[in-house]
Amino acid sequence: MKFQAIKGVRDILPPESELWNRVEQAAREVFATYGYGEIRLPIFEPTELFARSVGLDTDIVSKEMYSFEDRSFLAREEIRDFASFAEFVAGAERAFKAGEIPQTSNNASALGEMVRYRDELAKEFRGADPTKGGKDLGDFTNQLVRPYKLLGPVFALQMGPSLSLRPEATASVVRAYIEYGMHTRPGNVKLYYIGPMFRRERPQKGRYRQFYQIGAELLGPSDHAALDAEVIEMLLAFFSRVNLTSAKLYINSIGDKNCRPAYVERLRAELQRVREKLGADSQRRIETNPLRVLDSKLPEEQPIIDKLPHIADCLCDSCREHYEELKRQLALRKIEYQENWRLVRGLDYYMRTTFEITAPGLGSQNAVCGGGRYDGLVELLGGPAATKGIGFAIGTDRLMLSLQEAGAAAKCALDVYIAWMGVQAYPAAVALARKLREHNFSVELPPQEMKFGKSLSLADRLGARFAVIVGEDELAARQFTVKRLADGDQRRLPESDLLEYLTSSRTA
Ligand code: ATP
Ligand code: MG
Repeated sequence: MKFQAIKGVRDILPPESELWNRVEQAAREVFATYGYGEIRLPIFEPTELFARSVGLDTDIVSKEMYSFEDRSFLAREEIRDFASFAEFVAGAERAFKAGEIPQTSNNASALGEMVRYRDELAKEFRGADPTKGGKDLGDFTNQLVRPYKLLGPVFALQMGPSLSLRPEATASVVRAYIEYGMHTRPGNVKLYYIGPMFRRERPQKGRYRQFYQIGAELLGPSDHAALDAEVIEMLLAFFSRVNLTSAKLYINSIGDKNCRPAYVERLRAELQRVREKLGADSQRRIETNPLRVLDSKLPEEQPIIDKLPHIADCLCDSCREHYEELKRQLALRKIEYQENWRLVRGLDYYMRTTFEITAPGLGSQNAVCGGGRYDGLVELLGGPAATKGIGFAIGTDRLMLSLQEAGAAAKCALDVYIAWMGVQAYPAAVALARKLREHNFSVELPPQEMKFGKSLSLADRLGARFAVIVGEDELAARQFTVKRLADGDQRRLPESDLLEYLTSSRTA
């Protein structure tokens, strides 16, 4: 049996992981200069949180979430005969009363059905004695009619809350914001997160089932467009820190609850007229989420989409003013952008400002970051109505792909390889290794004595920058021989000079 990582999920190994760490570290540093603090969020949450915030009709919630029932102690699999069924029913009744399984009306009726069926069976089997040729109380789940009657309510019974692996993190940030009453904190609440997200998508380049995001959220009383612009400025400062060149910023405004519904209806009406020319996905979205049709990448739909009404022409006065102010604020910061009237996001909670950043080298999965404003979300999840929000999520996997495509490579991690010879040299080698590590050098110390040539060749293949030779001569002279492997430069130094030499070569 050979195990493999499941489809759409991958391992990030050294030295690539070193590049990941560097990028994540850059995010921590840049975001801190804008006053953001890290929030560490749970990987799973109640399914309802995502259903509410991301939206039931989105791809994410309707088909991509990894959801499971956080089941209690009751085990359906153990139902084998009447006795174990009766036991299951009794356990379920108890758990329902105690609130250990959800006290929903669905559960109440499933439970009622099971109780009725149990009583029916009990009557039927009363007095039956299998040894006298009476009815067999045994393996009734193998009979045809009964399992159906039995399994219906047993499987309808929800034995625990439905949980989901998080497909995104904004909902969790907002949940935490409300849960900890963060609206009472002074000023704006600025949070960033780094971690994995999960969506059951078709795996391909730049699209995985476990992928990573670096995201930030700003929550507070103001919806001033200067905040939107500053969030975007921070994002671009980060991209420039990690040397992502030729990132392109696209912006749009998708209106708010005053003006968007009218636009959506207009869009829907226009789409109805061209329905037959659209693909199945877009046809479905006419009803569920017409804005998402604008997002379509199908070549044959492009000429149709080009003729659809633009939301920019349908914005209400306050949304239009907000959008104009955003553009002024971006210009003030000398941030280049392109307007894209088709830019919508796949999550329901966005409003007004939306933006996306693309990077080269990624094929059709070229969006490395998506973000926008979500002023109604805090209220939707039960928090104070006055709280506004804006944020973004960077797709780290795609960012790394683009950086690597552009030639970013992990630095060699190994500074020093200690080639020791002769058992008498070993204690000195161990002591030296510890000393160098205390000074933050990465050191490789072979556990056993090796022939000199073999030892140096291993140092070379490990990509060490220096080999330090500890042999009899060195011990006698209380010195070390250090060899720079790039050019073979070799010198003999006492320990203090060796440290100085290695330190100066680190900064060089
Ligand atoms: P896309 O249109 O590419 O599917 P999205 O609109 O679903 O992206 P968001 O939910 O806004 O993406 O997430 C923000 C970013 O996270 C995306 O721009 C992308 O870089 C990254 N991302 C989203 N889904 C995946 C995935 N399955 N694999 C890798 N990265 C992803
Ligand atoms: Mg997507």
